Amino acid sequence: MAWDFETEEEFKSELEWMKTFVKEEVEPLEVLHLGYEDVLKVIKPLQEEVKSRGLYAAHLPKELGGGGFGQIRLALMHEILGRCGYAPVVFGNNAPDSGNAELIAVGIEESHNESHREKWLNPLLDSRLRSGFSMTEPGAGADPKLISTTAYRDGDEWVINGHKWFTTNGSIADFLIVMAVTNKDVHPYLGCSMIIVPSNAKGVNIVRDVATMAEPFESFGHFGNHAEIVYEDVRVPLDNLVGLEGNGFVLAQKRLGPGRIHHAMRWIGQSERAFEMMCERAVSRHLHGSTLAEKQMIQSFIADSMAEMAAARLMTLNAAWKMDKVGPSKARVEIAMIKYFGAKVLYNVVDRAIQVHGALGYSCDMPLEFMYRTARAARIYDGPDEVHKVTVARQVLKEYEPKEVPSEYIPDRKLKAQEKFAEFLSTIADNS
Ligand SMILES: Cc1cc2nc3c(=O)[nH]c(=O)nc-3n(C[C@H](O)[C@H](O)[C@H](O)COP(=O)(O)OP(=O)(O)OC[C@H]3O[C@@H](n4cnc5c(N)ncnc54)[C@H](O)[C@@H]3O)c2cc1C
Repeated sequence: MAWDFETEEEFKSELEWMKTFVKEEVEPLEVLHLGYEDVLKVIKPLQEEVKSRGLYAAHLPKELGGGGFGQIRLALMHEILGRCGYAPVVFGNNAPDSGNAELIAVGIEESHNESHREKWLNPLLDSRLRSGFSMTEPGAGADPKLISTTAYRDGDEWVINGHKWFTTNGSIADFLIVMAVTNKDVHPYLGCSMIIVPSNAKGVNIVRDVATMAEPFESFGHFGNHAEIVYEDVRVPLDNLVGLEGNGFVLAQKRLGPGRIHHAMRWIGQSERAFEMMCERAVSRHLHGSTLAEKQMIQSFIADSMAEMAAARLMTLNAAWKMDKVGPSKARVEIAMIKYFGAKVLYNVVDRAIQVHGALGYSCDMPLEFMYRTARAARIYDGPDEVHKVTVARQVLKEYEPKEVPSEYIPDRKLKAQEKFAEFLSTIADNS
């Protein structure tokens, strides 16, 4: 019987190396507030070190140009990468580039268009190119069936028109993968396609980077910003289609499954870092006659956080395991569950850590306030909580049929049990 919670020794030592490397080499960058170009320069030697250990861009299967790690190992890696915002970039595993590389790789498998490998996939895996994923529109987010961006064929080109926003890294990307309606006469799930658009193509108008809770001061062209983009009569070659025409949603599902597992494990990494801060403060701060650690309400924070993180971690690793075994569509419920459960755990743990630090936690002298602001988005991006809950509930409810009388209705059960055990019941009646 195979039921094992252990990590194999060889990979465990890689994880240990990663933990030390992220803590000592990557986390110090957080407090320098470098510009995007300087970050790229300073992380270059770090990326080389990761490459030399074979841990760079580990998210793709070997045959598609990646490390072939499988979701469990990737999940364990992402738990460490989640501790620090720069770590995924250093490991060539950051959103949206990692998901886009997966999309292009799966697209090549579908379309056999090998030119995409040299032109887009390999440069993306090597960080020679940066990408954005342009799906959400001001009028179409949680319900992507409402997408109104269109692409039509004109000779040997696609002509694209539409209005997108929240395209992460859109303003620094070399190319954008745009979801557009290519056939409006069929259901959107069959009529949308993904098309690669170089960001310097005529008609790509990056209107602005949208200021957010995480980055409240409007800025343009920073890593991690979210761009609003108008595509106006943008022309790209027909060859830029990702996968097959009409397969946009199928590709999106394939991309989002692993991405959600990686997100959820990174949230656990963030939660663990907040938790460590909370515990350190609890044993350090002395007030009202004892340390915070000795106060029951604070112990409750710690115990609840520990249990929630353990639950989220096991659920996520289970989703990763299922995905490796049976693929993303059969692991749909598990993936949807970790999306809303993990996001809430992150939010709860960071919130408690702030509370334990009091004003210090609220201040910018600690990383917790930034962690809190970024954590809030986890409940929205890649589909809001409610949509994932609908997925889970729908799948679960499929297993049930309406019953006029509940199956557990005791009077009926009693009659059935009396019939089933009639012989035995008569013996006890005789003996009494
Ligand atoms: C930080 C961040 C990064 C992002 N990056 C990208 C990116 O790179 N590319 C991209 O294309 N998009 C990106 N997005 C957009 C993201 O995918 C959308 O925000 C998300 O899909 C929700 O869409 P919406 O914001 O339009 O919300 P809406 O569709 O307006 O939904 C609003 C609210 O309605 C409720 N709701 C929706 N459906 C249901 C339902 N069925 N039942 C009950 N309630 C429901 C939920 O509470 C939801 O939050 C990003 C968003 C954020 C915050």
